[in-house]
Amino acid sequence: MSKFWSSFVHTLVPYVPGEQPKIANLVKLNTNENPYGPSPQALAAMEQERSDNLRLYPDPNSDVLKQAIADYYGIDKSFVFVGNGSDEVLAHAFHGLLKHDAPILFPDISYSFYPVYCGLYGVPFRQVPLDAQFRIDLDGYAVGNGGIIFPNPNAPTGIPLARADIEKLLQRNTESVVVVDEAYVDFGAETVIPLTQKYPNLLVTQTLSKSRSLAGLRVGLAVGHPDLIEALERIKNSFNSYPLDRMAIVGAAAAFADKAYFEQTCAAVIKSRDEVVAGMTKLGFDVLPSAANFIFTRHADHDAAGLAASLRARGIIVRHFKSARIEQFLRITIGTKEQNDILIKALQEILK
Ligand code: PMP
Repeated sequence: MSKFWSSFVHTLVPYVPGEQPKIANLVKLNTNENPYGPSPQALAAMEQERSDNLRLYPDPNSDVLKQAIADYYGIDKSFVFVGNGSDEVLAHAFHGLLKHDAPILFPDISYSFYPVYCGLYGVPFRQVPLDAQFRIDLDGYAVGNGGIIFPNPNAPTGIPLARADIEKLLQRNTESVVVVDEAYVDFGAETVIPLTQKYPNLLVTQTLSKSRSLAGLRVGLAVGHPDLIEALERIKNSFNSYPLDRMAIVGAAAAFADKAYFEQTCAAVIKSRDEVVAGMTKLGFDVLPSAANFIFTRHADHDAAGLAASLRARGIIVRHFKSARIEQFLRITIGTKEQNDILIKALQEILK
């Protein structure tokens, strides 16, 4: 605290990201990064950009990247927005599309950055409880609202919603923006990006941090009707003209173009997830049905905080949230086959 702070800064409750420890040889399963490297084509594109060109500002509109995303999804470039990680894209959506007099709605157990953005931008909100099986119940969203946002699959549960169910929500909720945060969609859920061509109030956000293994590059995107995109561009151009640097623009564009590598690594993560779920279930863990690159799991006889501490003592880091309803769960990122084997073996020893 300091007397130099504005009164506004005193009111903020910042988000706490998962730990990035500077210890070698950790089995790091706490922040949902991809265990495989980025596309070799993305790395080559960045290598080529690492040149004298870096003295020049990047394209403020990131047109090359927007076109690569538009080509991938078969949509017009005017439907695409890009930012410095989907966190930045989401921040602009809260500020520019979700801030109204009526409260916005999001799940009570969800991405913990949502209430932080509400605090930053003064967005009123109401949290809608997940059902007893920890699923999003879209019937709970059939009330007046200033906007709706949820991840699909949800985080940290990993449970997906079907595209048809999201479309039903869009059919009845026409007067406010619905944001679907698809950070983890490529690991087994259905994207609703095609529905942006039909519903002018749907904004879909995605990230290159997970399925395209570029968390360190910081690139995220939104797809929606050009009127929604214009709101995001107005905010962006009132905030930072160059949120994506030259390396990020070419690297992310090449990652979208390399469909084969993307499909191969996503399939490998999904296969590993099936193996981890089987191993954990055998050990007596209850694992929620995940369509993400992580699982959310609890054990009836073992305290989650204690398990996390025991894993940590063995050099394995997982995420534990001390929040109501989920304090007995652990969120565990799917690693390489080798990392997953280390995890299961450690849990066998701990549970003995
Ligand atoms: N949405 C959800 C649900 C997430 O879990 C994350 C990752 N913390 C993000 C968005 C943001 O990811 P990034 O800023 O790396 O794109």
